[in-house]
Amino acid sequence: MAGEPQADCLFCKIVAGDVPATVVRETDTTVAFRDINPQAPTHILVIPKVHHPDAASLAAAEPQIAADVLKEAAEVAAQEQATSYRIVFNTGSGAGQTVFHAHAHVLGGRGLQWPPG
Ligand code: IMP
Repeated sequence: MAGEPQADCLFCKIVAGDVPATVVRETDTTVAFRDINPQAPTHILVIPKVHHPDAASLAAAEPQIAADVLKEAAEVAAQEQATSYRIVFNTGSGAGQTVFHAHAHVLGGRGLQWPPG
């Protein structure tokens, strides 16, 4: 069922505490943790605790939780004292999505080029 934990999902396992992660913030609906392969001095992932395969599915099914993810992304950036930062939702393998549990990347702590690769 939509939103239910998926046994084969890495980020559901992080939510459950079955896979370790460096958690920097947690709310009733979200978890934020450091990316294992950081692309910038600040690189944190903010995920909903519920399982949806990407940001679009999350926003369609549970818009309040999608808003929570965005709010937490901004809170994480503030906590990291990043005044300029980027929030990225890779959506689809062609855009670089590799983990199919919705997540926001929060990238900061260095200059960021535009357009991204
Ligand atoms: P995507 O490529 O947009 O799907 O982002 C997935 C991100 O998850 C990548 O930046 C990975 O480095 C990151 N990642 C994969 N496994 C782990 C983990 O176990 N802990 C933290 N980050 C992870």
